[in-house]
Amino acid sequence: MCQADLKLKDKVALVTGAGRGIGQSISLCLAEQGADIVAVDIDTEAAAQTVKKVVLLGRSGLSLGADVTDSVQVDSLINKLLDKFKKIDILVNNAGITRDGLLIRMKDEDWDSVLNVNLKGAFNCTRAAAKVMMKQRCGNIVNMASIIGLMGNPGQANYAASKAGLIGLTKSAAKELAPRGIKVNAVAPGFIRTKMTDVLSEDVKEKMLSVIPLKKFGQPEDVANLVLFLSCEDSSYITGQVIQIDGGMLM
Ligand code: NAD
Repeated sequence: MCQADLKLKDKVALVTGAGRGIGQSISLCLAEQGADIVAVDIDTEAAAQTVKKVVLLGRSGLSLGADVTDSVQVDSLINKLLDKFKKIDILVNNAGITRDGLLIRMKDEDWDSVLNVNLKGAFNCTRAAAKVMMKQRCGNIVNMASIIGLMGNPGQANYAASKAGLIGLTKSAAKELAPRGIKVNAVAPGFIRTKMTDVLSEDVKEKMLSVIPLKKFGQPEDVANLVLFLSCEDSSYITGQVIQIDGGMLM
């Protein structure tokens, strides 16, 4: 592709949970469009593997092992990012976990860990990145929600609450940050093939497939393309939105 046609030429993108699955796919998709990538993951080695792939695409990368639930680690990673790249154009809050279980049997730690990673983690990163973006008077934030945050799901009270909370965070941040030229949107995937969903039984997967009008599961690249759209100029008049990517599963 001609350099002039790149949608993110010389932009700097911070992607959390970038070590595998959707986060790795987003990192590579943004890099292919000219962005330098800061890949953050609690799994330091996995983040480094993503950056190796980014470098093979001809872009710069920085891998950082960090736990997004810890605001001290998040502030420190933003400082390391600024030391190397001097700015943050894009933040993708993608790190997420599941700890499924029926409500009445759910352990405190399963509730807390899911809310901490999926919601507080995104808050920590948004707060730290927004301080920089506000000074720049531009930026793009994309939060990885889920259709479960819109429709609920038995066995996922913690996950659904975290993703619904993330949608509330998205809308509040969008309103607060819009006057400084910062867009904040959320993506709500349905069933996407990754290690997170590989663990589900064949029975569950078949039931899911039967309620997806497009009759196929999504791929990480499908989500990455949507994140790319929300991260670049093509979506310059879209903020505070939750865009579903689910094969028609929820409508
Ligand atoms: P995944 O489990 O394959 O990858 C998640 C990544 O996040 C891992 O590399 C993991 O190490 C990292 N991570 C976990 N806790 C972290 C922490 N505290 N700090 C930093 N990194 C941490 O999952 P995935 O399927 O790629 O999902 C990515 C995101 O998309 C999640 O937010 C998930 O909730 C969301 N999502 C996934 C699906 C799906 O069907 N796969 C559907 C809807 C939403």
